[in-house]
Amino acid sequence: MPHVRRAPPARRIRIRRARATGLLAAVVALAVAVGHMVPASPSPSPSATVAASPPATPAADVPRPADPGDLGAADGAVPDDTTVFDDDVPGVAGLDPALLRALRAAATDAAGDGVAILVDSGRRSPAYQRRLLDEAIARYGSEAEAARWVATPETSAHVSGDAVDIGGADAMAWLSAYGRAHGLCQTYRNEPWHYELRPDAAARGCPPPYADPTQDPRMRG
Ligand SMILES: [Zn+2]
Repeated sequence: MPHVRRAPPARRIRIRRARATGLLAAVVALAVAVGHMVPASPSPSPSATVAASPPATPAADVPRPADPGDLGAADGAVPDDTTVFDDDVPGVAGLDPALLRALRAAATDAAGDGVAILVDSGRRSPAYQRRLLDEAIARYGSEAEAARWVATPETSAHVSGDAVDIGGADAMAWLSAYGRAHGLCQTYRNEPWHYELRPDAAARGCPPPYADPTQDPRMRG
């Protein structure tokens, strides 16, 4: 991989990434343990124990630009500790209304279990998505490898407002266990933070996640 000169990341991004990568193994293990084909059934609260087997996929960060440049909140940059109730954050307010309703219903349930559903990324402008993709290409060394993690501005469900990246390991674990009751499903096995609305999931369970975005037919558009 060629050496790539990058601006030093902002402090809050370093903290966020440390938190995301440090806890990812447990989340992936839980996601694997819980599975996605189990029929929906009411459960009182998430299990307190988390399986401790190593993750099947490489740990990766929630995509956030290391160098946001001139891209700001209007493009989808999300402040720390943003929740699904933060109407004043464009990355949240710009989400598809049905997805946002489902997220808020889920977050209300999760709060009853003491879990806060945070938003690391929601709706993004095409320019923001382009920045993420360019950084991924630089980081992974090729467009093909970057495509496993970051979609193009034309295909990204974030640009259309139909996807959210959840923040916080406990939030990811909670949604992995209970999100389907609200129609919220993990889309990609390698991205335990990325959720989209699947209205049939409450009755039929979530569809099995794609291994990564390159397996998603929508990404070939
Ligand atoms: Zn995502």
